[in-house]
Amino acid sequence: MNDEAIGRLAELLREARNAVALTGAGISTESGIPDFRSPQTGLYATIDPMEYLSVDALNSRPEQFWKYFVEVFALPKAEPNAGHLALVRLEEQGYLSAIITQNIDGLHHKAGSQRVFEVHGHLRTVHCTGCGRTWPMEDASGQVQAGELPTCGECGAGVRPDVVLFGDQMPPAFQDAFEAAQSADLVLVVGSSLSVSPANMLAFQRNRLAIVNRDPTVADGAADVVIHGSAGETLTALVEELTGAGT
Ligand code: NAD
Repeated sequence: MNDEAIGRLAELLREARNAVALTGAGISTESGIPDFRSPQTGLYATIDPMEYLSVDALNSRPEQFWKYFVEVFALPKAEPNAGHLALVRLEEQGYLSAIITQNIDGLHHKAGSQRVFEVHGHLRTVHCTGCGRTWPMEDASGQVQAGELPTCGECGAGVRPDVVLFGDQMPPAFQDAFEAAQSADLVLVVGSSLSVSPANMLAFQRNRLAIVNRDPTVADGAADVVIHGSAGETLTALVEELTGAGT
């Protein structure tokens, strides 16, 4: 644990008038959900997510799309970890005004964070591509587990998850997140390689930048503080430094 860097990060948060966190898949690996780009364990180590998680894959190979999607994202009953819980504390204590997340797993909500922008959608619901009807993801994943292709019970059209796939437009939450990032004077990135556009632009809106990530990122050189380590351990230590808890 790099105590000096934690101290510097705590200082940045104390000085900030309006800080937001920008989280990525790395904050959820400690909850058992694989990210994309970690060497060995990331999904890119086995498949090309673009091939499996794109609009084109859903339209042209829906069986393959749904089987993979449910296997990786929709079935595990993941729980928030120490990193998610530390961000709840930082929001409660007034150090963070919002969490912008690239994640679809819903773990910030489950942990208790209040102001969360899900810029890549979420796993709570699916909708019909024909009539627009919405229903819980669990129903669709149940159909997939039973070997069926999810289709709309009303109009018979195909179904898609309410997440942003490669090839999709960004949802309205992205505009809200963009405004939140623009008004922030500090962005704390946690668990993101910052290589997915346009979400990575949210880190660079004339603000100070802090990065907590296990591996180096493309933006390390531009950051005011960089900590290479586990999100859970680092953010827990940060909360202790800021609040005196556990000392
Ligand atoms: P990424 O896979 O590109 O990068 C994740 C980064 O997190 C890596 O650089 C890795 O070093 C770091 N990391 C892994 N475990 C960590 C830990 N315990 N502590 C600290 N850092 C850790 O992820 P991305 O930048 O978020 O981009 C991938 C895209 O796919 C995003 O849209 C993402 O939300 C989505 N995705 C989401 C989930 C999810 O909802 N949990 C999972 C996989 C991918």
